[in-house]
Amino acid sequence: MTDTSKLRSGLAEALHAAGGPFTNTDPETLADAVRAYLEDVGLFALVRDFVDPDPCEYDHHGYCQAHFWFETDPACPHARAKAMGLEPLGEDDE
Ligand SMILES: [Zn+2]
Repeated sequence: MTDTSKLRSGLAEALHAAGGPFTNTDPETLADAVRAYLEDVGLFALVRDFVDPDPCEYDHHGYCQAHFWFETDPACPHARAKAMGLEPLGEDDE
């Protein structure tokens, strides 16, 4: 199991700073606080730095030959990151 205790404690602090506890808070406010925290710690930038801008190329098994990913479930991590909107930044975006 991955040790994400630092991420968890940081998120707890960020939620507290955002006005927690959130027992009666609308989900959008909570989602905004979580998204802001993940942005602040650089998680999205980290994923963007790893993602290959080249498209996946699937063979007849559904494996991504472009990224040497030989699973179908989960799908190629580059495709999953792009599906979450975590495309690498272009030169014009930086
Ligand atoms: Zn791929």
